[in-house]
Amino acid sequence: MKIMVAVKRVVDYAVKIRVKPDKTGVETQNVKMSMNPFCEIALEEALRIRESGLASEVVAVSVGPAQCVDTLRTGLAMGADRGIHVEFKDGLNPLSVAKVLRALVEAEKPGLLILGKQAIDDDCNQTGQMLAGLLKWPQGTFASKVTLDKEKQVATVDREVDGGIETVLLDLPAVITTDLRLNQPRYATLPNIMKAKSKVIKKYTPGDLNVEIKSDLEVLQVTEPPKRKAGVIVSSVDELIDKLQNEARVI
Ligand code: AMP
Repeated sequence: MKIMVAVKRVVDYAVKIRVKPDKTGVETQNVKMSMNPFCEIALEEALRIRESGLASEVVAVSVGPAQCVDTLRTGLAMGADRGIHVEFKDGLNPLSVAKVLRALVEAEKPGLLILGKQAIDDDCNQTGQMLAGLLKWPQGTFASKVTLDKEKQVATVDREVDGGIETVLLDLPAVITTDLRLNQPRYATLPNIMKAKSKVIKKYTPGDLNVEIKSDLEVLQVTEPPKRKAGVIVSSVDELIDKLQNEARVI
């Protein structure tokens, strides 16, 4: 079975986000970019499934500008067998990415698709769900545990929901999206970084896949969250209770 993993290039999680002066988005020029953390978890899970003998190949896919190749190289250095880059310069939205991934599924015929539960740049949490809908495949989102049964062709997925853990059984092929506690992604070792340089990254454009990238929503503006006000030090418990009752009005 082949596993396809979608890996998105995003602003590194440790970078302090700056909004562009014209409020059209966040600054991405001269900013460190990395693989979306939930996509690292998705790739790690796919690699573990392959290493346990339940899959034969892991293909990493990234949609976006030319620099996505760096993200794919990171994925190849972690252990993915090959990469696919669908090059597109301008803004993307989850539905367009889902359509691109659907077209690749038709070409590659994977038995399992693993995505991050959300990209930390747009926080959409939509691509996996839309993709499952387009493909009419079952979905296990927010996965904190994945168990595959190759003979029965099913996946058991523990999902992190508000009240606890929900366990769902999915017929394969299926779409799984990963939550934070699914695994701890590995670091790429130096020999694997070297090996990754010779692994294949196939290039497509959306046009090659007969996908038209268009958005039916318009971002009106992006603003920074309001600055937190400085705190005050109170001199007694009575003063604290008084402030909570009469100023904050929370008790
Ligand atoms: P989102 O729905 O934007 O929060 O993204 C959820 C997941 O969809 C990500 O963690 C990726 O696995 C996948 N994804 C979204 N956009 C892209 C992209 N441009 N390239 C590859 N994968 C993507």
